[in-house]
Amino acid sequence: MPHIVRTFFVMACAFWISAQSLAVNEAAAQSLLRDAEAEWFLREISTPILLAAGLEPRAVNIYLINDRSLNAFVSSGQNIFIHSGLVLAADNVDELIGVIAHETGHISGGHLTRFSDNIQGANAISILSLVLGAAAIVAGSPDAGIGIIGGGQQAAVRNFLSYNRVQEASADQAGATFLEQAGVSGRGLISFFDKLRDQEYLLSVNQDPYVRSHPLTGDRIARLESRLEQSAYLDKPPDPVHEYWFQRMKAKLAGFLNPPHATLQIYPPSNTSIPARYARVYAYNKDLDWDKALAEADSLIAEVPDDPFFHEIKGQILFENGRVEESIPVFKKAIAIAPNQPLILTALGHALAAPEKPEYDTEARKVLEKAVSVDRENPFAWYQLAIIYGRSGNVALADLATAERYSMFGQAREAAYYANRAINKLDEGTPNWVRAQDILLYAQADIEENGGRRRRR
Ligand SMILES: [Zn+2]
Repeated sequence: MPHIVRTFFVMACAFWISAQSLAVNEAAAQSLLRDAEAEWFLREISTPILLAAGLEPRAVNIYLINDRSLNAFVSSGQNIFIHSGLVLAADNVDELIGVIAHETGHISGGHLTRFSDNIQGANAISILSLVLGAAAIVAGSPDAGIGIIGGGQQAAVRNFLSYNRVQEASADQAGATFLEQAGVSGRGLISFFDKLRDQEYLLSVNQDPYVRSHPLTGDRIARLESRLEQSAYLDKPPDPVHEYWFQRMKAKLAGFLNPPHATLQIYPPSNTSIPARYARVYAYNKDLDWDKALAEADSLIAEVPDDPFFHEIKGQILFENGRVEESIPVFKKAIAIAPNQPLILTALGHALAAPEKPEYDTEARKVLEKAVSVDRENPFAWYQLAIIYGRSGNVALADLATAERYSMFGQAREAAYYANRAINKLDEGTPNWVRAQDILLYAQADIEENGGRRRRR
């Protein structure tokens, strides 16, 4: 593990260990998982549901939370959060789509939460900090291509999203309507709820958070069933393309999150399907068995040469194994196939910046600037950009990038400090100067209102 590329990773790693050891604890630290493939896939399957609900799909953000309990929730500002545990517990894509349809029913029904005023207009990271009640949020460099953004300390999970029975019934009905309009069978939603049905009688401390926030009764399931059974799509099987990508994402998450021996039990080498090999790439990688991980990744690339995510994971393995310059052309292949994936762009930018060679820095800057132009909520890309700007003597832009990063994490005092520094060096009236002014204004308002402790932009 070369320390040159690991400096920032240590933070994520330290967090990861604490998250692992606390996994059985209700108050375990949570984190946001950022993965190009998962985000693309979740957008893909939810778009028809959101359109059916009359929502603008681009205005709705879907986030994956690293937490092995079963849960999904929405916040105002049109954000849907899904626990990794829910994805791993789902048997097919229609179960996941069913849950998304139900959650969309809470959005379209305007079932606001207690903390909605704080959440309005906030970004994902600031929402996460509210959800976690975390005092510090950290972002490490992506690990095996999956970025972890999370509370830097153990944070009490706030059980602030709880719906009443009227709201549940209305979200059920709305969800059923969206499924019908999207041509998806409601069997997935029924079988998902069936998994939770037994929990109705458990003490709340032993229930999954989904059951506590979405009160589930046999009566409610029965009513939903009779509604869904009227659908012409009841017996329609899951869309095979969606099912393929779902099984891949599930395998990837399992490989990334579970101990390698557990992954190899579910996906033994005798299973040569694409999802199984994909899960093993992550299991071997996690076990630091780089050669085996690379061999599996190569076998996937050989079978599907134009899959950007297979190139991405191969590049990531090489990178993490210290073969940084070898990883560059591999990431470039992924970018050639998926040119606008901000997280893959960030990985390429990171690989170009890591060797600290001036001949790579110009390209690293271009690539990272593209990454943040597609997705501003990318603290690690801003961090890398600040390094690149600083190295080329562009202190004003380095300060601005640092201000962006602090602003994103709601660290208003630091954001104001760096925004001020940037303003003093930038030419008045230029777009960067205007941006620095904006960050400063937000930060100052934040400091005045909340002493700089509340996270918002
Ligand atoms: Zn609900």
